[in-house]
Amino acid sequence: MMNTEAVTPETLDWENLGFSYIKTDYRYVSYWKDGEWDEGELTRDNQVHISEGSTALHYGQSCFEGMKAYRAADGSINLFRPYENAERMKRSCERLLMPAFPVERFVEAVRETVEANEQWVPPYGTGSTLYIRPYMIGVGDNIGVRAAPEYLFAIFVTPVGPYFKGGLTPSDFVVTQYDRAAPYGTGASKVGGNYGGSLLPGTEAKKRNFSDAIYLDPATHTKIEEVGSANFFGITHDDKFITPKSPSILPSITKYSLMYLAEHRLGLTVEEGDVYVDQLDRFKEAGACGTAAVISPIGGIQYGDDFHVFYSETEVGPVTKRLYNELIGIQYGDIAAPENWVVKV
Ligand SMILES: *Cc1c(COP(=O)(O)O)cnc(C)c1O
Repeated sequence: MMNTEAVTPETLDWENLGFSYIKTDYRYVSYWKDGEWDEGELTRDNQVHISEGSTALHYGQSCFEGMKAYRAADGSINLFRPYENAERMKRSCERLLMPAFPVERFVEAVRETVEANEQWVPPYGTGSTLYIRPYMIGVGDNIGVRAAPEYLFAIFVTPVGPYFKGGLTPSDFVVTQYDRAAPYGTGASKVGGNYGGSLLPGTEAKKRNFSDAIYLDPATHTKIEEVGSANFFGITHDDKFITPKSPSILPSITKYSLMYLAEHRLGLTVEEGDVYVDQLDRFKEAGACGTAAVISPIGGIQYGDDFHVFYSETEVGPVTKRLYNELIGIQYGDIAAPENWVVKV
């Protein structure tokens, strides 16, 4: 068993980090009670002590965010569009009848947490980042199906490498018969309940040597919605950037950023629309995108007995590669960012 306690910033092999939990020094916690958030504080305790009646444990009243801190070449630390995460978490909270954590305070708390764990932000050029996990859970004594009497908002951080093995090496995915969300359910919110149900299809996909499961739209099962816990994009033969549009997709900040960069930096036409799983021939390249996944090129997709290969199973396509370079160049501060995209810690 790995002894995570023994890991220190001095002994970490920054260039070979996986995507796993490493205990860092400080986490931020704030409690909501009697209609307001307390002032919040940093703590060294990585255990959460809550009532056995907490709604998060029984009724899935929990949501989270995923962000990263990037070490720039000059040693400073960048956050990428943190206000977007704050706003999205607010929407997730509203969907679950939880009190939102104020947007400005959210960004300030992220900043404080990263700063307190500064030694854990991987050095520039290692390909690793500090993953940031804000979350909120319903806590306090309760038994009936109702909104919790109290809430915990917290943020912890952990240094990570690539989410999918290989980074920019393409990997294969398989279309699952399971749904991750209902048409008017909680698919567009980053809520815990969406992910418990994805463990089985995800594990079945990995057992068959695929990186993850691809989910189709829950109403008709004809259109691609999500690639594991990342959004899908494809590049058509006439250089259009296409990504699915659906009310049950999680609106990826990375995806919206790529749409902007595809149009304004690469000169592509951008379209949100239907991506029929039996019409993959229209794409010369495809990828999965998200904070954790960054851009993970899709080599091929297994759909029933058909296996469709895009650009190549072993090499990233040129458009995907340009999008990737533009995105990470901005995140690490090597390329000029559109206004307000990069916030210094
Ligand atoms: C978090 C998440 C994404 C990616 O969103 P980003 O804002 O780009 O990190 C995509 N799909 C699902 C299901 C997610 O949970």
